Amino acid sequence: MRFGNSLRWAAVVPIVLLAVAPARATEPLPTIVVLATGGTIAGAAATDVQAGYTSGQVGVDQLLAAVPQARKLAVLRGEQIANIGSQDMNDEVWFKLAQRVNELLAMPDVDGVVITHGTDTIEETSYFLNLVVRSKKPVVLTAAMRPSTALSADGPLNFFNAVAVAANKDAVGRGVLVVINDWIHGASSLTKTSTTAVQTFLSPLRGLVGTVAYGDAEFYRGAVGRNTVDSEFSLDGVTALPRVDIVMAHANMDGALIDAAAAAGARGIVVAGVGNGNMTKAALDALAAQARKGIVCVRSTRVATGRVGRNVEVDDDGLSLIASDDLNPQKARVLLRLALLKAHSLPELQRIFQEY
Ligand code: ASP
Repeated sequence: MRFGNSLRWAAVVPIVLLAVAPARATEPLPTIVVLATGGTIAGAAATDVQAGYTSGQVGVDQLLAAVPQARKLAVLRGEQIANIGSQDMNDEVWFKLAQRVNELLAMPDVDGVVITHGTDTIEETSYFLNLVVRSKKPVVLTAAMRPSTALSADGPLNFFNAVAVAANKDAVGRGVLVVINDWIHGASSLTKTSTTAVQTFLSPLRGLVGTVAYGDAEFYRGAVGRNTVDSEFSLDGVTALPRVDIVMAHANMDGALIDAAAAAGARGIVVAGVGNGNMTKAALDALAAQARKGIVCVRSTRVATGRVGRNVEVDDDGLSLIASDDLNPQKARVLLRLALLKAHSLPELQRIFQEY
């Protein structure tokens, strides 16, 4: 065969193959609903290089319009649930969010939910949803450390990555996730560690669920701790959560703030203890006295990482106290508020702190 002929064949063969090859069905894009609550990701400043800004200035439509690339990953719909700095996060927004997420995920044509949120309390909201959402479909929270108007704003890529994770079938059944700065965290494990750095979230004890780079996700582990469809907690018929206060331990502490929490109507008190959930003798006496009156008292820690073990330096059995295991004070508070919706014995409450 002459060279000219082989060239002709080279041109014809692909055309013939194309004609006989069955048309490959293109998979429809998943549908992801974006629920916006505010935060720095929706924040704005007067200039692009200033520290001062206001959270919750940009609406969900503007947020979606700012990241058109995300529409290649999923069909997106947006809803505005709130527009607040997450320092103002409250039960009303939590109930609204939980109800809407459960409604949406029960719809067969919704594949996942992305929630935009502030970084200050994202660990609490995500953990709350981890306990009350009734679906294995992905629920992914995301946030930003720099407002939308900043030089090198981190929000757009965080949002893109969050949509990619929510649209990823491998994210199903891993519990509520938080995607920020290329890392995929589990709601029960992440914690904010820097007031200003873009790399602020760590998952100290349980480790990362995975990583995501420009939408390309890799998963390392499943959910740790009972969550979503395996959770025993539900908001069905619930209109309010009991008050639980956090009191921080320190050198020379007395029992005044513990007693003040009880006087303010707390049904539970979480002490952010020193070290392994320790506190002064005076504080421990005050805590044990409140426990004897029926207030559920949990020892957590103000230390950034490590578990609080039962009966280590404190006689939890003798004083009727609960050890928070690996939940930090803010997450211990969320779990206790849900646990207190039903009457539980102290051993049952301790079991809950070990399982979630
Ligand atoms: N104060 C802000 C908030 O939590 C901080 C942030 O989003 O980074 O809403």
